[in-house]
Amino acid sequence: MILRIDRLQTELPPPSDPDPDGAAAVQELLGGKFGEMSTFMNYTYQSFNFRNRQGARPFYDLVASIAAEEFGHIELVSATINTMLTGTADRALLSGRARRAGGAPLGDLKSVRNTQHYLAPGGAGAVVQDSMGKPWNGDNVFSSGDLIEDLTHNFFLETGARSGKLRVYEMVDHPAARALTGYLLVRGGVHQVAYARALENLTGADLTKLFPSPRIPTEKIPECRPHLDRGEHLKLYRFSQDDFKEISAVFNGRHPETGEQLVVAEETHPVGALAHDLPPQPAVFAPGPEPEEIAEIAARLRTAAGLPRKPTGNVA
Ligand code: MN
Ligand code: MN
Repeated sequence: MILRIDRLQTELPPPSDPDPDGAAAVQELLGGKFGEMSTFMNYTYQSFNFRNRQGARPFYDLVASIAAEEFGHIELVSATINTMLTGTADRALLSGRARRAGGAPLGDLKSVRNTQHYLAPGGAGAVVQDSMGKPWNGDNVFSSGDLIEDLTHNFFLETGARSGKLRVYEMVDHPAARALTGYLLVRGGVHQVAYARALENLTGADLTKLFPSPRIPTEKIPECRPHLDRGEHLKLYRFSQDDFKEISAVFNGRHPETGEQLVVAEETHPVGALAHDLPPQPAVFAPGPEPEEIAEIAARLRTAAGLPRKPTGNVA
């Protein structure tokens, strides 16, 4: 089972200038073939289908634990897309052209790259699609039952995922997209190394020597630096209080690019950061055409349930 912690894995900036076309590009990192839905679902199904777990325990622990981290990556990409879309619908509604148009208050959004961010199903939120609007689908999952095949596939998947992140970094300069890609480039590097080490420990073949791929100079990317300084490029987490302790049997040795010692973190997950409470977008009915009404009902229910007047959740 999965236990959920209401934190993002890393800090994102608050909404600034909206960037709907940038958000459409970032969708590739969510629902693209090499996006976070794919890494998450690949490792999740491989762990579900894993046979002889006790016999192969360190490898099961590795795949199962990284799967949980990928769930948090989906959350982070979605938060980024929501941040970048904040303000677009209401700005369109209030703009002079929309007023003149009279009957088309969202008319300014007609030519954005992905109108589904505003029409069905999206209320200025993330959609489970790639950057061209194609829905993510289960054919992107490779779970062969053969451990060596699966680990080789995972190394390739992380490699493609990192190339994609770098390209999105180079295409989109919105601060939220840059913070996202800076973090994910570093974490994807750890997963690449993890699967390479797992394969090397299992077969003797070192994929990092076979494929010079992709040599991404993260130390030259400003948004990667804070994560490198904290050693996030060397650290694998166990996403469980008591389980997945055997990842240390495969995630060990030296980082192939920097020569530093790889470590299994003592803490079970990244410190994390509070999410920003993104404002309502009433123009697209999120969370409704009259958000105040929902807030009033929630306040009444809170009082009736004997909860504190102030909401108990935490936001940035
Ligand atoms: Mn990921
Ligand atoms: Mn990954």
